[in-house]
Amino acid sequence: MSENVRVRFAPSPTGYLHVGGARTALFNWLYARHHGGTFILRIEDTDKQRNTTEAVQVVYDSLRWLGLDWDEGPEIGGDHDPYFQSERDAIYESYFQRLQEGGHLYQDKDGGAWRFRFTREVVEVDDLICGPVAFDFANVEITPDMTIRRPDGSWIFHFVNVVDDIEMRMTHVIRGEDHLPNTPKHLQLYRALGVVPPRFAHIPLILNKDGSKMSKRDQGASINSYIEGGYAPEAVRNYFCLLGWSPKDDTEVLPLDQLIARFDLDAVNRKGAHFDIAKCDWFNGQYIQRMPMERYLELAQPWLAQAGIVAPTEQLEPVLALEKMKVTHFREIPDRISFFFTEDYAYDLAAVEKTLRKPGALERLAQIAGTYSVLETFDAMTLEAKLKELAGSLGVKPAEFIHPTRVAVSGRGVGPSLYHMLEVLGKGRTLARIQQTLTRFAA
Ligand code: GLU
Repeated sequence: MSENVRVRFAPSPTGYLHVGGARTALFNWLYARHHGGTFILRIEDTDKQRNTTEAVQVVYDSLRWLGLDWDEGPEIGGDHDPYFQSERDAIYESYFQRLQEGGHLYQDKDGGAWRFRFTREVVEVDDLICGPVAFDFANVEITPDMTIRRPDGSWIFHFVNVVDDIEMRMTHVIRGEDHLPNTPKHLQLYRALGVVPPRFAHIPLILNKDGSKMSKRDQGASINSYIEGGYAPEAVRNYFCLLGWSPKDDTEVLPLDQLIARFDLDAVNRKGAHFDIAKCDWFNGQYIQRMPMERYLELAQPWLAQAGIVAPTEQLEPVLALEKMKVTHFREIPDRISFFFTEDYAYDLAAVEKTLRKPGALERLAQIAGTYSVLETFDAMTLEAKLKELAGSLGVKPAEFIHPTRVAVSGRGVGPSLYHMLEVLGKGRTLARIQQTLTRFAA
């Protein structure tokens, strides 16, 4: 590619980053990375009431969480133009003057707002995704001249958006399809300013499963809900890629280098993308299963800390490994494994009723403790063989030993594979826990 790709994400901070905005940022970022171009973050904060420092912080945090680093924009060092629209007033003034000198502007008689005079013709948008789309601007009743500046001097989105895209030398504008009807207006501004417009690519909206537009309240709408919901950023990012784009084969789980290598605008669909939180959860589980132990521990760590589970890595790792193939969200982990880290674990009443209160259960617990107490090797394979051998010699099903043992050492009726769990607990703690259970439920 001869031209150097320059794309941007231009959010208006609202206090949360919507999944649609995040996906727009992601597609721009992927496009830049795929073509070795530049990805710019620009904060469109002309609406003064809504734009707070916290709202901007949410944008940074969400993008960083998704791993979408920007090459130009706020907080990047060096001398450069400001990337907040609120700081670019002088630039807008100069473009405003150019339009005025060119005779493209006039002031409303009543309120004093400034309008841009449209050329009355059919404007064709040649969109990279939607194809050619014609908009008829011939009728002034249907498309009245647009306001670009309010009576109080503040700027209207269309004008500053175009000025910034010119000033920042954008080669492509990749944004949500809701902006497609704005594009002919923008093209009119480019023409009046004598600037060749960038290429436009409008990506399909994200819809709920029932086809309705995704709103703020819908589950999974806010990036914060993923951060707080125990998702792995790489899984969410991968899922978001597939909202409107698909690799040409059926592969779904794609590592980042593959996503960058394969992403391009020609494979973005025209139809709306259906959002499915269950699918996102599936990706999360898949990523957890496949991720290196180190990353799994790293992502689990904040959740463990929050639950007050603190232990050295050598102790955490084998315990967490037991659940790696089963976990869907990191937030589930503390509850799944808490019993490993206290001898004062709670006994689930239903599990106690169902297994420990069963006639003969406590005798069998004592028997398995006897069998296990003489073992020198305390690994899952040996533990399984010995339990089955004991059950066989007494003519009962292994389950009659498995269930009470599980409840005895964990207090629960469900959990990781029993033998692996016992191996991780170790001989001393296993036997102590069985003993403690026998004492407690003997009466
Ligand atoms: N601030 C606009 C938005 O958030 C940007 C639109 C664009 O990307 O051109 O929708």
